[in-house]
This record gives sequence, structure tokens and C-alpha cells, in this order.
Amino acid sequence: MPEGDALHRAARGLQVLVGERLEVETPHPRARVTRVAQRLDGRKLLGVEAVGKNLLLRFEDGLVLRSHLRMSGRWQVLPRNGTRRGTPWLVLRGAESEAVLWNGPVLELDESRIRSLGPDILADPPDLDAMVAKLRGADSRTAIGEALLDQRLVAGIGNLWRAEALWRARISPWRPLAELEDEEVRTALSEAARLMRGSLDSGLKVRAVYRKAGRPCPRCGVPIRSQGQGDQNRIAYWCPQCQGGEPAAAL
Ligand SMILES: [Zn+2]
Repeated sequence: MPEGDALHRAARGLQVLVGERLEVETPHPRARVTRVAQRLDGRKLLGVEAVGKNLLLRFEDGLVLRSHLRMSGRWQVLPRNGTRRGTPWLVLRGAESEAVLWNGPVLELDESRIRSLGPDILADPPDLDAMVAKLRGADSRTAIGEALLDQRLVAGIGNLWRAEALWRARISPWRPLAELEDEEVRTALSEAARLMRGSLDSGLKVRAVYRKAGRPCPRCGVPIRSQGQGDQNRIAYWCPQCQGGEPAAAL
């Protein structure tokens, strides 16, 4: 799944079209039914930003196009009328460049769902106070590993960065929010923000625990553990020594 930093990279690529009046096409039949092209064709693109896992394209007249890439979507910026194979979902064509969206299962002119998202972990600077407040407003029995993936509480953290941030903060993904001090919650969030910002700038994803089950913890040498967590059973990775904390079922 594209993580938040991949979305921010796409947003940067699309900046080349900002300020231009765009020709908009939706070649894919499933995209055509959205009527996005009819509504946006000929309008000026005012801004592109990544919010959580969504890419928001703001057009004049208050129109906002939301694109969520799910598992398979991909944005590409090409020279205008360059050669390409296949049927893209959306083409935004400017004077010299065009942005092409492949396999974009979510494409809609609607802002209502965006408003329900938590503060963006990749905002510059990230609003850590607002995120801590959101997590404090959630059910205090929720494990922090689950809470960090809840896009309504904080937008943009995927499975990889939740594992890495919690390892760096030395907090078990299994600890309920009720057991954590505000300062600990804040540390986990600031580690996630720092790591994701670093990855966005460098293009690198340095991993200590993610998909390293059974390998030694880089800090203490104890084997990393993994187990599905939460309703969606996303795999959590943690060091039982320096993060502590066990899944409830194992107690
Ligand atoms: Zn360790």
C-alpha cells in the first residue's frame, strides 16, 4: 500500500501543473461515470496536497478532487501527449506536462470524508498537540498500535511507520492508551513524523523491526516478534525486551 510519504512525493510531482488551466479526461470507463472530467475540464488547478493517504487537487470555483490510491493506484507526470500504454483513470493535461492516474479506484469530487480525517502526520510542522488530543478522545482501552493506524485520529501513518515509530519510542504496540502518559504518546507521534519526513526527503525507508520477525533487535539483540493486531489484523512488529508489552491473549 502506498504510504503517506509516497503520496507526498506524488503531490510534489504534480506541482508542475499548479496555476494552469487543465484539459481533463477520464479514459477509463469506471472513471468516466464519476463525471469528474465534465466538472473539471478547463478549470484552473490551484493547489495539490497530500492529506493522510489522500491526494487533494483544488480547482477554481471551490472544487476539490480527492484521489485515494488504495493498493494499486499510481500517479505519473509525463510530457504533454507523451506515449503511454493502457487506459488511465484520469489525465490532467497542461501546456507542457500531463499527470496520469493509473488504477485510481477512488476518485471523487467530495470533501466530506476529508473533514473526518485526523491531523496529517506529514504536515509541516505536524500538529502534535492536536494529535495527542485526538488520541486522548478515543476509547482509552485501544492499544496504541491500533490507534496510530486509525486515520480519524491521525492521518497518514501506515503499518511500516507505526512499527518503526513505536520501536524508536520504546513503546509496545499492545499498550492501551489508558496506560500511556501524554508525553509517551507525543514521542511516538513525533518519531513517526520525523521518520516519515526523512523518508519523504531521502526516498529511503530504513527499517529496524518492520517485517523482521525472528531477527535480532538492532538495539538489544532479542528476536523481534510479530502478530496481527486490531479489527483489520494488520501485523504489528515489536521487540519484547526494549518495548515490552504482550498481546492481551498471551497474558
Ligand atoms: Zn530490543
